[in-house]
Amino acid sequence: MELWFTEAHTPFVDFSIKVDRQLFSGQSDFQRIDVFDSKEFGRFLTLDGYMMLTEKDEFIYHEMITHVPMAVHPHVKNVLVIGGGDGGVVRELTRYPDIKSIDLVEIDELVVEVCKKYLPQTACRLSDPRVHIFYEDGLKFIRSCNDQYDLIIVDSTDPFGPGEGLFTREFYGNCYKALHEDGILVNQHESPFYDGDAAAMQRAHKRIVESFPISRIYQAQIPTYPSGYWLFGFASKKYHPVHDLNAAAWNLLGIPTRYYNTKLHAGAFALPTYVEELLHDVE
Ligand code: SAM
Repeated sequence: MELWFTEAHTPFVDFSIKVDRQLFSGQSDFQRIDVFDSKEFGRFLTLDGYMMLTEKDEFIYHEMITHVPMAVHPHVKNVLVIGGGDGGVVRELTRYPDIKSIDLVEIDELVVEVCKKYLPQTACRLSDPRVHIFYEDGLKFIRSCNDQYDLIIVDSTDPFGPGEGLFTREFYGNCYKALHEDGILVNQHESPFYDGDAAAMQRAHKRIVESFPISRIYQAQIPTYPSGYWLFGFASKKYHPVHDLNAAAWNLLGIPTRYYNTKLHAGAFALPTYVEELLHDVE
């Protein structure tokens, strides 16, 4: 008997992966959590039936959401990660010796426990002494933060369910308040290709533009996300994501990557015309 994982990317488009076996299935107070094993993508995590990450392609997402801001901001010491319970962003951040603290605010403790057990590839650095995990709603956590962080990375689920509040004007305004005067906010920013995702992307972009003086979008190819074309938001109080790229300094760090590099960094912000038009429509 064949087992397949299938996710509807639109009402008319399904994405399926042939599954060798299911490793975990459970229901937390927030969402359904499943872990599967497959020949093509290795192990993968889904939440409420939506693809979160696979062993085969998670490096793309986690490198791009982490190294782009780290190659721009010249002295990141204190980082806040909201969401990210799989640990992939934390793994990439711990490659930087100058980072002093990483606060991880993950609403669902069961996600962390499941990823530690079944996805050590991403969860491998959650025990780094610089990491402090808070099992809280990021929308509430950020309300009490003032002038504390150099970088905030929002590695959330999509803008419905527990992640909905992380795409609001209130949340982005509180991120601005929580950042230092030269702070950077980076977020997973959905996709421009399918209409539903594009509308969510436009809503988020409009709210970020209203909250930060510099707001740009960059892109990456993520095979297991809807359309395979995914966006990230780069919002900043001071630094421009391309003009202020410190390529030489970042390359001197010798951080091993398989997707990110400082040449691709500049290109990631060169968007297709239809994406630029979607963004301009809400700016
Ligand atoms: N990389 C994946 C993506 O882009 O779709 C998401 C990574 S991670 C699995 C997303 C995490 O966000 C989940 O563990 C989920 O529990 C967490 N999350 C969702 N809403 C949250 C909230 N309001 N506060 C904190 N964490 C939240």
